Amino acid sequence: MADSKTPDIVYTKVDEAPELASASLLPIIQSFAAAAGVSVGTRDISLAGRVISSFPEHLKEEQRITDDLAVLGDLVKTAEANVIKLPNVSASVPQLVSAVKELQGLGYALPDYPETPETDEEKAVRAKYDAIKGSAVNPVLREGNSDRRAAIAVKKFAQANPHRMGEWTAESKTRVASMSSGDFCSNEVSKTLDKAVSAKIVLETAKGETVLKDGLSYPAGTVVDATFMSAKALDAFLLDEIEKTRADGTLFSLHMKATMMKVSDPIIFGHAVKAYLKPVFDQFGAELEAAGVNPNSGLGDLLERVADKPEIKAAIDKVMADQPPMYMVNSDKGITNLHVPSDVIIDASMPALIRAGGKGWGPDNKEHDTTCLIPDNSYAPVYDETIKFFKEHGKLNPATAGTVQNIGLMAQKAEEYGSHPTTFEIPKGGTVKMILEDGTVLHSHAVEAGDIWRSASARKAPIEDWVNLAIQRQKAEGCEAIFWLDESRAHDAELIAYVKPILEAKGVADKFQIMSPAKATVQTLKTITAGQNSIAITGNVLRDYLTDLFPILELGTSAKMLSIVKLMQGGGLFETGAGGSAPKHVQQLVEENHLRWDSLGEFSALGESFKFLAEARANDKARVLGEGVDIATQGVLDHGRSPSRKVGEPDNRDSHYWFARYWAEALAVQTGDPDLAAHFAPLAKALAEGEEAIVSELAAAQGKAVDLGGYYKTDPKKVEAVMRPSETLNAIIG
Ligand code: NAP
Ligand code: MG
Repeated sequence: MADSKTPDIVYTKVDEAPELASASLLPIIQSFAAAAGVSVGTRDISLAGRVISSFPEHLKEEQRITDDLAVLGDLVKTAEANVIKLPNVSASVPQLVSAVKELQGLGYALPDYPETPETDEEKAVRAKYDAIKGSAVNPVLREGNSDRRAAIAVKKFAQANPHRMGEWTAESKTRVASMSSGDFCSNEVSKTLDKAVSAKIVLETAKGETVLKDGLSYPAGTVVDATFMSAKALDAFLLDEIEKTRADGTLFSLHMKATMMKVSDPIIFGHAVKAYLKPVFDQFGAELEAAGVNPNSGLGDLLERVADKPEIKAAIDKVMADQPPMYMVNSDKGITNLHVPSDVIIDASMPALIRAGGKGWGPDNKEHDTTCLIPDNSYAPVYDETIKFFKEHGKLNPATAGTVQNIGLMAQKAEEYGSHPTTFEIPKGGTVKMILEDGTVLHSHAVEAGDIWRSASARKAPIEDWVNLAIQRQKAEGCEAIFWLDESRAHDAELIAYVKPILEAKGVADKFQIMSPAKATVQTLKTITAGQNSIAITGNVLRDYLTDLFPILELGTSAKMLSIVKLMQGGGLFETGAGGSAPKHVQQLVEENHLRWDSLGEFSALGESFKFLAEARANDKARVLGEGVDIATQGVLDHGRSPSRKVGEPDNRDSHYWFARYWAEALAVQTGDPDLAAHFAPLAKALAEGEEAIVSELAAAQGKAVDLGGYYKTDPKKVEAVMRPSETLNAIIG
């Protein structure tokens, strides 16, 4: 349980690989920080924690926990906030269902996830679960805009130790396919409000008016968009691309963001499942529905539900054999792209495929060229242009490439496309209208049943803060800086109307360019190929995509990124890396007790967090600790102490030992704070003298399967035993 008083630094409790890593790293951090009188406490934002805290009325007194996400949501709106945010699971429905099942098995009397809620009680339960699923944490914590870049040490290390890149050739058949009409991109309308308004969204049909959403309110200056994806156009696109993939002889793949775009993207994913298995749905539609199949949950769920229906199973096998082969998540286990909506996440999947030279894994366990479906064309051009660029110029050379930094608009839920309570699957054909309190119709679209309609917004203060942050960062770096905004897109045109006057008023318009994402991609790739740097100033979605794409090409991974959120109320939020919670790493740990998770993102965030504390509270000891962290991080890189991917070789736990050692050594030799030096000198000595014992104790732990006592809710004692296997190290850290 979290401590009641707010600690100086909050370290979030999360899920999967980063949480396992915390079991080893956090005791070290807490012990070192305590020497400077800095408290580091935890707040639970894990999926299991969020589920448990949402249903106190169903639980025994001793099982109840506070809603730490709400506590943090308040904290980030204050100048006192200093939060280190690790990646957490953004749960898809199958993940949420399995977490609930696990918790029920542990004695938590939680209600089942109602797939088709009917009673009021079921609807209320469903609403609570809907608030937990998908990207439910980040929008609450991100009360500021995003500044992501590779620390200089990290970039230099990557240039000196370039990772392997797959070859790109002009003959590659890999390509991006996206819709040319009927998608969100082409139907978008956008307006900037000249006064504060309240609004509602209604669907008008022949039978009358249904209110889809009431009680919306926006301050003056908010950019409000609306758009929809036509279900018919989507289905036609999917069927057409399946045939083109067949003709090309490539793998079929679909790249979505079903976690962040938690309402829209699982629906689009479901359309793809139905299109790929069209003959099965045509023939057995009624039976599938009776079996409770929801295509949005994926092929994995579907196969489970028809396990006892040999006729349908046989039809599925036949159709799968006839269709173009699918891009696989795990070809050994037969897990396809369409098994689970959250398995293939575009910001991780597309860069990995591009890094591999445009190759995906096929069912035959071999690499093949791949057709990549990204139905909505808003941001697909970024991947399309990247692929075309490498086909023409060959792969990027990480030894010489410059770097791309990002300044991303995201504060106060800016541009949360498709994740909002303002996204709807349209039940009946008609007109969707967004109507202001004075009766003005702000936006209106003619829609058909099944279309996905959505509205997103971005407020004035966050937009202005974002432009100012970009100006600061460009001034600090002096390099190329591009606003990735397309003047021909409705939303972007409204943003440009904000950007240009601010740049001009500050006299820096000549330092910036404004380009469509397609053009900006090409320009940026040219810049980094020439060894120069560029700052990409983007909206929320491209912030997410680009801070994986470029780091994965430049550094081999996005996990090592520095990710700072300068909170608008003066606090600091330090995200660790740009990657997720690496479920594959947990699998490996459980099977062979090797954790390949790299905590470099945590190290970088920790250094920034201490330095921020030093500034905010005039705490000099925190500054010394922070500078020590930077030296230790550099030490881990320079001495090759990062985790290996292979069992039997040093892993995450070893890297923590080295981090602690280099940190203690740095603190022992610094002269700015003699007290800290005196405290850490014996610690540094003990860590050095214990090296042989510690390294061999850590090595001895590897190789065997381990039990964590759960997946979403692990047993803290078991995790501690697994993650802190060196008695010698534990005794020194205390
Ligand atoms: P991911 O967890 O980033 O995993 C993609 C791959 O990136 C991993 O398999 C791993 O590659 C590599 N990777 C990421 N972090 C790493 C680290 N610290 N050290 C070493 N390798 C690292 O992305 P995902 O599979 O798309 O998402 C998994 C889960 O994370 C989802 O539930 C998603 O919603 C969540 N997520 C959360 C956030 C956030 O909270 N900010 C952000 C993104 C995703 P190898 O397997 O090759 O080692
Ligand atoms: Mg991302």
